Amino acid sequence: MTHDEAVLKAQEIASRVLTPSAGQNDKAGRFSTEAIEALGESGLLGLLLPAEFGGSGAGPRTFAVVTATLAEADASAAMVYLMHILGTATMLAARPSAARALAPILREIGAGRHLSTLAFSEAGSRSHFWAPVSRAHRNGNGVRISARKSWVTSAGHAQSYVVSALAPEGVGPTDSTLYLLVAETGGFSVAGPWDGLGLRANASAPVALDGCEVAMDLQLTDDGAGFPAMLNVVLPLFCLGTAAVALGLCRAAVAGTATHLKSARFEHLGQSLGESLPTLRAQLATMQIDTDGLSARIDDLIEHLETPREATMLRVLETKAAAGEMAISVTSTAMRVCGGAAFSKHLSIERLFRDAHAGAVMAPTGDVLREFIGKSLLGMPLF
Ligand SMILES: Cc1cc2nc3c(=O)[nH]c(=O)nc-3n(C[C@H](O)[C@H](O)[C@H](O)COP(=O)(O)OP(=O)(O)OC[C@H]3O[C@@H](n4cnc5c(N)ncnc54)[C@H](O)[C@@H]3O)c2cc1C
Repeated sequence: MTHDEAVLKAQEIASRVLTPSAGQNDKAGRFSTEAIEALGESGLLGLLLPAEFGGSGAGPRTFAVVTATLAEADASAAMVYLMHILGTATMLAARPSAARALAPILREIGAGRHLSTLAFSEAGSRSHFWAPVSRAHRNGNGVRISARKSWVTSAGHAQSYVVSALAPEGVGPTDSTLYLLVAETGGFSVAGPWDGLGLRANASAPVALDGCEVAMDLQLTDDGAGFPAMLNVVLPLFCLGTAAVALGLCRAAVAGTATHLKSARFEHLGQSLGESLPTLRAQLATMQIDTDGLSARIDDLIEHLETPREATMLRVLETKAAAGEMAISVTSTAMRVCGGAAFSKHLSIERLFRDAHAGAVMAPTGDVLREFIGKSLLGMPLF
């Protein structure tokens, strides 16, 4: 699948599957299995996979455009997609000894029948996902893990979970290892409901691992090498993907606001809101300027990821921090411009506004990113 084909497929799924049901799924907090089926049938679940696993071998550019396209219709579904792509990328980067056990799973992903996700954040270390408090314990030819993972997108719907735990002999707080846990592993359970302010349809519920046994061949990193994999494999794509979700939300807010300004009327003046009030036109223009600014920032990050250089990690961090703020700012302006119509839920603007608040609290949070960026500028160690 070429870049253009992938984008066309994402647009088709957005208009046929996501847009008609996003509002209802948000209201009911319902995970869209139809969205996953459509993404699977289209081949988009295997976007990053090489052809040998039935994938398209696409890179960060196609991933970002597809994710933004999905998010413009339904940010919950886009976040599910993003977490799946991160799970896939981590499997692809796994140590050679896992290749044989992972091959059938990767082929299932390529065939569109397997959804993956990440389970890093723990109740004990909260947003500091790089420091799990759970520990893997050696158990015959593998490990046994007990953990409380506090938010796991697609919990109970994914077929596999990339989980972190302190390595059996790990000494420091970042001496972690990554494992692949398949959903039917004994001791794995969804430990509560998901009832969030936003992204209500992405099943980001807590999960419990109670003595889950993971065989050695599903250990994705060497012992203690989970932390570098989080930083080098997961973080760049996660920051790009969350920025793409923010971009989709901003675009939807601009489009929804423009539609409202054209259709809502002051009948006593014989004009639409947009015709009547220059202040609303100016705020819409600011939203568009900010949205295009975010788009340019994402393009810059893509270029950095395609051709890494010294400032690339800084750009990774900056882009997620900026995108989180931008999504909140643009959707907040949309709420104000659309007035009571937005507040009383006649429009989908309030869903965008609620969804937009997730990016900044997803780890690394906006505050932590600023900490990292500030320390990096001063030449201080980040951890
Ligand atoms: C919709 C959604 C989906 C999610 N999906 C997943 C998933 O699939 N997998 C997964 O592993 N996790 C997931 N998470 C978890 C997420 O990544 C964070 O771990 C979680 O949101 C942190 O919330 P908390 O209350 O524990 O934050 P806390 O750690 O309690 O933070 C509270 C406040 O302190 C600030 N803070 C914390 N540390 C610092 C610091 N060092 N410097 C300055 N300020 C700091 C934070 O910015 C925040 O404002 C998801 C979260 C949400 C909301």
